[in-house]
Amino acid sequence: MTQTKVLISGAGVAGAALAHFLHRDGFDVTVVERAPGLRGSGYAVDFRGDAFDVLAELGVLDEIRAHDTKMLGTTLVDADGTEAGQLPAEAFAGELEVPKPELTRILHRITEPHIRYVFDDSITTLTQHPDRVTVEFERGAPRDVDLVIGADGLFSKVRRLAFGPHEQCLRHLGMSGAGFTADNILGLTHRGVLRTTDGAAVYAFSAADPARMSVSLSFATDAPTLDRRPRSEQEHAIRDAFTGHKWIVPQLLDAMAAADDFYFSSSAQVHLDTWSNGRVALVGDAGYCAAPTAGMGTSQALIGARSLARHLTAAGDHASAFAAYEAELRPYAEANQQTGREGAAAFGARTE
Ligand SMILES: Cc1cc2nc3c(=O)[nH]c(=O)nc-3n(C[C@H](O)[C@H](O)[C@H](O)COP(=O)(O)OP(=O)(O)OC[C@H]3O[C@@H](n4cnc5c(N)ncnc54)[C@H](O)[C@@H]3O)c2cc1C
Repeated sequence: MTQTKVLISGAGVAGAALAHFLHRDGFDVTVVERAPGLRGSGYAVDFRGDAFDVLAELGVLDEIRAHDTKMLGTTLVDADGTEAGQLPAEAFAGELEVPKPELTRILHRITEPHIRYVFDDSITTLTQHPDRVTVEFERGAPRDVDLVIGADGLFSKVRRLAFGPHEQCLRHLGMSGAGFTADNILGLTHRGVLRTTDGAAVYAFSAADPARMSVSLSFATDAPTLDRRPRSEQEHAIRDAFTGHKWIVPQLLDAMAAADDFYFSSSAQVHLDTWSNGRVALVGDAGYCAAPTAGMGTSQALIGARSLARHLTAAGDHASAFAAYEAELRPYAEANQQTGREGAAAFGARTE
């Protein structure tokens, strides 16, 4: 019997997990990833609920647990850094929290021997036929596959090609921010510090490397997302938002300018009437991003990947598999999006 050929766009959490399950169930899987190699970033991700079952099914739960950030809690401080309260570890770290690069590295390691990974490339066109999809790439030769899955995150290229422009489905939650690592000038040890003042929040924590801390500087904004703008514009927006702020904010702004691991992201959600179009479907942030303020994106990506794989394996055809996947997951994704909106509002985001 010929194997079903699946092309996954995106080697993040959902893409790698889906690749693992589909390969296990007899599909022929290729993953195309825009980045030249595995992506790293300063932030940590957590796992909740059924995501633990998915990690166990992937055979990586113990290894993931070994990277637990072991956060002890977060200290709330006022504008000049005086302690104003405490948050328990679960507030940010869920039931288990690990640095995102460790998760991505582990998922890549378990799939890499069986899956064709193509880095530094991206899909440019998708042409659907009744029995296949013809895919063209920025670099690689065109190819025909049976199914294309967009696991390429908030600004999914697959979604843009098969469902429409970003503006139609992205909902900005009124909060943006930058992340980077800096010297651990607060002397944090498995702890975080959170300061929310005048619509701008500083969050810093230190876990694995005691010499460094991960910093996030976020601000309420009703301007369109700056995610895809040059770093200079993004830094400018951060500096604007933190003008006049004291405590260690000036030092953090200097550290931001010098950081080589700077990233910028907005709290945004993806809302679509349907998660599939013909032979193309979406999984994870690409299809139903709940925003970082939900704290559910990683769990949702893992659970979505397993659900999609199970239905593709069980159903006789892709159309009923995609429908069953969406019927199963949509209530969960919508509940997470509600949490994401509430989280953004609690941070003082400018909602419409
Ligand atoms: C600052 C921040 C903090 C967060 N904190 C948490 C948290 O505490 N807990 C939590 O659960 N979640 C958190 N999240 C969310 C979480 O990281 C995502 O929800 C999760 O990674 C989604 O997985 P994914 O596989 O759908 O997308 P991603 O992990 O984003 O992977 C998408 C992949 O697609 C690739 N890609 C993009 N475009 C293309 C293209 N054109 N062609 C090919 N590949 C492409 C990307 O390079 C990337 O590798 C946070 C996110 C951010 C930004």
